[in-house]
Amino acid sequence: MLSSTPWHEKRFRQALSVLGDNVWEFDFQSGHTYFSENIFGFIGYTAEELDADEDLWKKCIHAEDLAMVETIARHYLEGKITQHEMEYRIFHKNGSLKWVMDRGVVIDYDEKGMPLRIIGTQTDISERKRSEQVMAENERRFRDLTQNVPGVIYEWHEYADGTFKFNYVSPRIREFFGLEPDGMDKVVEYIHPEDRERWRTSIEEANANETPWFFEGRLLYPDGSIKWWQGASVLSFKSETTKVYNGIMIDITQNRKLEQVAKEKEEQINLFVKHTPAAIAMFDHELKYLIASDRWYSDYGLVGQKIIGRSHYDVFPEINDIPEWKEHHRLCLAGASIKKEMDHFKRQDGTIDWLSYEIHPWRKSNGEIGGLIMFTEVINDRVKAQRELESLNNQLGSSNKELEQFAYVASHDLQEPLRMVSSFLQLLQKKYAANLDETANKYIHFAVDGSNRMKKLINDLLQFSRVGTQSGEMEGVDLNRIVQQSVAGFQADLDEMGGQVVLEPLPSIMGNAVQLEQLFRNLISNALKYKSERPLAVRIGAMEEEERWIFFVEDNGIGIDEKYFEKIFIIFQRLHNRNEFSGTGIGLALCKKIVERHGGSIWVRSKPGEGSVFYFSVAKTL
Ligand code: ADP
Repeated sequence: MLSSTPWHEKRFRQALSVLGDNVWEFDFQSGHTYFSENIFGFIGYTAEELDADEDLWKKCIHAEDLAMVETIARHYLEGKITQHEMEYRIFHKNGSLKWVMDRGVVIDYDEKGMPLRIIGTQTDISERKRSEQVMAENERRFRDLTQNVPGVIYEWHEYADGTFKFNYVSPRIREFFGLEPDGMDKVVEYIHPEDRERWRTSIEEANANETPWFFEGRLLYPDGSIKWWQGASVLSFKSETTKVYNGIMIDITQNRKLEQVAKEKEEQINLFVKHTPAAIAMFDHELKYLIASDRWYSDYGLVGQKIIGRSHYDVFPEINDIPEWKEHHRLCLAGASIKKEMDHFKRQDGTIDWLSYEIHPWRKSNGEIGGLIMFTEVINDRVKAQRELESLNNQLGSSNKELEQFAYVASHDLQEPLRMVSSFLQLLQKKYAANLDETANKYIHFAVDGSNRMKKLINDLLQFSRVGTQSGEMEGVDLNRIVQQSVAGFQADLDEMGGQVVLEPLPSIMGNAVQLEQLFRNLISNALKYKSERPLAVRIGAMEEEERWIFFVEDNGIGIDEKYFEKIFIIFQRLHNRNEFSGTGIGLALCKKIVERHGGSIWVRSKPGEGSVFYFSVAKTL
């Protein structure tokens, strides 16, 4: 500090120092800058240290600001300026940075008017700079918000005299209404006429109660289009004269459309479920009814009752006594699906409903299980019919058994006396034929013939009754062997009549060998018996299906009229009298019985005059 400074100047400098500013002085003659003690607080170096090193001061100035500071100094030296004010950054000795406001003024001139001395001050303005930055940041944030929030943000002033105005409207108003921010007052004109009254009262109510305002309605644009909007505002400031509201308007047309679509979808589903001709109900996680079909109401006597929102266990308290069902519900809520063909449901009044049902979990869009869906069917009628059928079958089964028993016993026991009749007839013929006249011999011949036929009939009947009574073992049977044996049995007939029997390869199957041979023998015998004028051609083969074998015996015989296709499989039903073709009418009935014992069925395809194909199936697993 120069000692030659006048007294009052000294006092000023002291005063400034007390206020926290640094005072400096530049002497043009010595080219030296003097600093007051306060400089220590600014940059951590004492005035003496700065006095000793001319460049130290410059080193403290932020590199980006140094040029400006040097330019100002040069301008003083060149007499271009007499006064300055600038802001720059300086580094403290400890490395921290601060902003200073540096002011200076020339206070002495030489006789040529060139400056001799400048005196200046440095004020720490770091604090101000910081708040300026904060303000700038706030301003940027506000600008970004108002520009980017998908809605119109506004500030609305209401004055004590009842007038009001929009004090601020964000630029999005252009997108919303095609209006400039100062045209917001016109927005009122866009409010749909049907909403206007509601809109006005909503604002009045909110303002009167000083509660937040919220509104949802439509905007009607001059071109006739409609937008849905939501408005909300709050009272943010209030004085004697003014109330300030901050508000926002957003376009919710898209949401509305989506809501509408969702609503329509929901209605469709509701209608669909309601009218679906099945008992369906949907439950939430607590098993409360969400929706149920009309059929659900009618099947369970719920018509007229309110069940939606109520718990399933509340609607049907009896389920509380069925732990198995509650367990099903728990399992399905954990992700399982359950199906039961038949179950009984004991109702509170003691009646029993037979049900068939399926329970599935349903999932929310996030994949979590939201609850259950139940499909049920009251099958009381079906169960009743099934029971009746079972009992009828049982009855039928036992009477069939009795009948078979009877047929077996009768045919077995009849054989003995018949054998006697035929052997005595044969004796009669042998011993007395010569003594009897022609008529007597003819009678004996008829009697022998009759007893032979009766023998055949009794044998066939015996075989037929045995299929049912003798259970017979099921074993692996090579059908090639069986069929060859059967054909061999007819070799003499075949030799006599000519023609051929073609055997295609046959499989081995599970079955009863004796019965299967009877079956083929009967079919082959019929093919031979009912031959036509043409040379005999028989083909035997098999076709494989997934669960069964189908066998066929094809002939080129006389064929059968379609109307007899069923009848021929009934016992004793014949299409010919014994003068045309001999037979008992038991053969095909026996075949049918054998096939059925092997889990299959028998049928025929034929055309009179062209031949017949007898098909029968045998289940692969018995
Ligand atoms: P049966 O041969 O003893 O009369 P079946 O039960 O074997 O008794 O046959 C019933 C009827 O079916 C026969 O009377 C005959 O009219 C008809 N039938 C059976 N097989 C054939 C066939 N291969 N061709 C034409 N008709 C047949």
